[in-house]
Amino acid sequence: DKKNIQVDTLVLGGGPGGYTAAFRAADLGQSVALVEKRGILGGVCLNEGCIPSKSFLHLAQIINEASEADQFGISYSKPTLDLAGIRGHRDRVVGNLTKGLGALAKQRKVQVLYGSGTFTSSSTLDVTGDETAQVSFKQAIIATGSRVVQLPMFPFDDPRVMDSTDALALDEIPGTLLIVGGGIIGMEMATVYSAFGSQVSVVELMDQIIPPADTDLVKPLARMYKKKLKAIYTSVKVTKVETKKEGLLVSFEGKGAPQPTLYDRILVSIGRRPNSDGIGLEALGITPDERGFITVNEKRQTGVANIYAIGDITGQPMLAHKAVHEGRVAAEVISGEPAEFSPACIPSVAYTDPEIAWSGLTEKEAEAKGIAYEKGVFPWAASGRSLSNGRNEGTTKVLYDPETKRVLGAGFCGNNAGELLAEANLAIEMGSDLEDVSLTIHAHPTLSETFALAAEMAEGTITDLM
Ligand code: FAD
Repeated sequence: DKKNIQVDTLVLGGGPGGYTAAFRAADLGQSVALVEKRGILGGVCLNEGCIPSKSFLHLAQIINEASEADQFGISYSKPTLDLAGIRGHRDRVVGNLTKGLGALAKQRKVQVLYGSGTFTSSSTLDVTGDETAQVSFKQAIIATGSRVVQLPMFPFDDPRVMDSTDALALDEIPGTLLIVGGGIIGMEMATVYSAFGSQVSVVELMDQIIPPADTDLVKPLARMYKKKLKAIYTSVKVTKVETKKEGLLVSFEGKGAPQPTLYDRILVSIGRRPNSDGIGLEALGITPDERGFITVNEKRQTGVANIYAIGDITGQPMLAHKAVHEGRVAAEVISGEPAEFSPACIPSVAYTDPEIAWSGLTEKEAEAKGIAYEKGVFPWAASGRSLSNGRNEGTTKVLYDPETKRVLGAGFCGNNAGELLAEANLAIEMGSDLEDVSLTIHAHPTLSETFALAAEMAEGTITDLM
């Protein structure tokens, strides 16, 4: 039987954006309903994105480090993989986090409704599924996120054709795997499956893997993966996939494209599209843009005054930390606080080996927009810590305003680049200049000191490479 529920604020979608918004709104005194159709909170990030991929990447790192130890006089025998054990690690991590979210919702008296929500007017939403309800609300926050793009040329009805969700299910380790799309998700999966024993090839339409990153950051990764992977084809596209009994026969086009090749499996990671269809946007009078994203202002308000939108549904960059911050802003605005979403930078990280991380201005963006900048670069071949770690391929760079010396952007390639990026984010947000960075005493020997050394390189004050 259909429940009638009345709340101040309705949140549609229980991913990082949605649960953050719901919790913050409840903390600020609103009555809140959170509607989620997958029967569990956490969205893509916890259930089939950030977290399962990182739990596998950690295991890949253990395997890689053990195999690299050979060159330092330590040898291990070849690892044996127990897929059930590996999946168990993923499930425990995800389970802990999603359970925690359930408890946090309860503590705050957020009413979680498991079912699919459709707006029927700008003050009502129907829920169907595990629960049937009509929710009446004063304000709503749309946080329905995104899903994988599935082009018809890829025969997804064949279980050997996978998307990122299938790949993270890890039901087997194929002998040969073609990854279509060398973006962050594709390259993270290449890292996992190659460590687990697949012969991995990657095909990317653009002229480099991880296309949005600056080329100098990607080069060391590409060099490393030339050794680790079977092949990386850039500026090449897939033209046909034929399902055969003995495998998937893939045809390619472009300079340096291989002949049609058989693969045991393919993973298609060519992008994500917003979940703006089927949620009743018409009943709200909201029209998404031509790619399906909902347009919002800096308060995350749509064109309809009491309706807000956050996270992947509002466009690039489609990242969990962006969704979380937007969720907080929307909840605060609704509660009458003077909040807005206007970050100086949104960090991006590829958790590959080496990792690639960047924030704020990139050289690509500066060149495209004609923004004046200079840069300081510190090569990790001169970092005592990196060499001690057995690695010399990393790099740290800082981009700055030639007049004011303000830090505009930063990029890292190397072990732990994603963690190192945090200091750069803070520097950019706080309007730091080069001296703020170079005069801050960094512990030695750390990888984090490479950020100060990059600033010293820019200032010409460096006296010693360490
Ligand atoms: P989502 O997480 O997509 O959540 C939306 C929720 O809404 C879903 O649970 C969905 O079931 C629900 N929903 C949709 N429609 C309805 C409806 N009508 N009724 C009820 N519920 C509905 N980002 C990072 O920052 N770092 C990473 O390392 C990272 N790794 C990733 C790895 C992979 C393999 C993938 C696929 C993504 C990764 N991302 C990463 C991206 C990240 O997962 C997303 O940016 C993030 O989850 C977006 O959060 P969201 O709240 O906007 O939406």
